[in-house]
Amino acid sequence: MRSIRLAMVAVLLPCAVLGQVDEATRALARDIFRELIQINTTDSAGDNTAAAKAMAKRFLDAGFAPGDVQVLVPEGRATKGNLVVRMRGAAGSGRKPILLLGHLDVVEARREDWTTDPFEFVEKDGYFYGRGTEDMKDYVAVMVTTLLRFRREGFVPSRDVILALTSDEEGGTANGVDWLLKKHRGLVEAEFVLNGDAGGVTTENGKAIDVGVAAAEKLYADYQLTVTNPGGHSSRPTPENAIYRLAAALGRLERAPFPLELNPVTRGYFAKVAAHETARNAADMKALLGNPPDAGAVARLSEDARYNSLLHTTCVATRLNAGHANNALPQTAQAVVNCRILPGHSPEEIRGELVKRVGDAKVAVRYVDGATNTVMERAPGQAGLAPAMPTAEVMQALERVADTLWPGAGVVPNMETGASDSKYTLAAGMPSFGVGEIAIERNDDRSHGKDERIRVSSFYEAVDFFGRFLGSLTGK
Ligand SMILES: [Zn+2]
Repeated sequence: MRSIRLAMVAVLLPCAVLGQVDEATRALARDIFRELIQINTTDSAGDNTAAAKAMAKRFLDAGFAPGDVQVLVPEGRATKGNLVVRMRGAAGSGRKPILLLGHLDVVEARREDWTTDPFEFVEKDGYFYGRGTEDMKDYVAVMVTTLLRFRREGFVPSRDVILALTSDEEGGTANGVDWLLKKHRGLVEAEFVLNGDAGGVTTENGKAIDVGVAAAEKLYADYQLTVTNPGGHSSRPTPENAIYRLAAALGRLERAPFPLELNPVTRGYFAKVAAHETARNAADMKALLGNPPDAGAVARLSEDARYNSLLHTTCVATRLNAGHANNALPQTAQAVVNCRILPGHSPEEIRGELVKRVGDAKVAVRYVDGATNTVMERAPGQAGLAPAMPTAEVMQALERVADTLWPGAGVVPNMETGASDSKYTLAAGMPSFGVGEIAIERNDDRSHGKDERIRVSSFYEAVDFFGRFLGSLTGK
């Protein structure tokens, strides 16, 4: 997924300085991008392994040692291959590697829905079109280009840099990051992770208004609520009706939101965005950060769905299924409740909270495991890694480069309220930062949608950004 882009009041800024990417690098980046878009990597008909192999060939052709370029395919899942490349750093740095993360798979796209063929790379009116141009073959191309360019220039990074290009971030049951961490941990072990799938630069009328960096993530969890009943003839209603019982339980959930909880990342976020907000919101954000937080301010900010999702664990009913005939009392009533859990809490802890809020022993609350689509009595007990601000090293590099390319916009660490593959690396104890800095107009986010596209100038600017940013982190 791609991060939710943040709305802020526009500030007029001077034009960004012109990029400093040479012609050969631009041509290389475009060619890699084209090749990736034209390899279908959807879960249904696509082949992730083909894309992993195509990228592997480029590294081998550039002179990377075969042992440092590995296409790894899970057993029995021939189309779900992953690529892991290691760029060797200078000997004796004593520092653990940096892991660059990107997914090769894309969301389904139907030709009849699109203006152009989603698996053709089309450049038109200043945009690149195709499935994955925004999420996230753009950033895969940017990261691959950067390492190949470093190699061509003879640059040796001050520490190892690992690139992992993976499968099934968008869906499917062969998530590459999860699998690599379980089966090949040594290949991807790193001090921290830079994920190109989150973060992002938001522009308004072409001017950058914020440079987002995802520094924390909420956990995703689905729960199934079930009420069963012997049923019977609908002409003789009984007081025990499964649908009413479930509806009442859902009503109680709706009226019992989870408490306010701030962490260092969301505190920093509200402190920063207040400067660009309306006077009312700015005052509320200030009161929110007070000790204790002002209850009225919390209530007002929580009316905004975006802010609400940053302030609370949220749970919402998303599916309903009940009854078997119009003239029969329901024997089963079932709902799915989707939760987005703040860092530091486990899915099992939240299941317990749901049981309490439902307050009815006849409503079973079970966990739905998304990877295998099975329903379980208990949920995982492991909480996400506690949120941490990006290290000074990462922030300083980011701020320095952002100031050059998007002057005045400001780097704003934030919490991802959706989810990316960082959830696996965070769970594995590796600090993970979403730094997919590519400029997208605020109201033109087309990831997962039809006619997905990216500005041509934004793409080359991202190549420029990432080369400077990674270079700065590795002693260039
Ligand atoms: Zn994505």
